[in-house]
Amino acid sequence: MRFRDRFIKFMYGRYGVDELGKHLLVLAIALSALGLFLPRIPSFVCSVLSLALTGLIFYRALSKNINRRVMENHRYLAKTEKIRAWARFCKKRWSERKTYRYLRCPHCKGYCRVPKGKGKIKVNCRVCKKQFERKV
Ligand SMILES: [Zn+2]
Repeated sequence: MRFRDRFIKFMYGRYGVDELGKHLLVLAIALSALGLFLPRIPSFVCSVLSLALTGLIFYRALSKNINRRVMENHRYLAKTEKIRAWARFCKKRWSERKTYRYLRCPHCKGYCRVPKGKGKIKVNCRVCKKQFERKV
């Protein structure tokens, strides 16, 4: 039996990696990297935390209690939704930076996406339905 087949057989019925696992891995790597720049004792603490997180990642990925892991991931995603939505918004804003500008509405402080390089334009806010002028 090839290694790949044995691995598939081993992982059968186990949970695997989810968003929480991926984010924990990033945190573990970040802690490990941070430890390189710190003096002895804080560096040791970072290494221990990183190792503990790595253990947790493996425990979750190899766990056969799938329902519990799904619930943990679901709770994590629900609690971090605002942060992840903000990150998605920033990513979109960055990818559209050459064609669109994001203006803050002076009335409701919401964001309005407007085409770039059109001169002075009137912007209708979708949230509060008010109008304001801005040069883009
Ligand atoms: Zn508005």
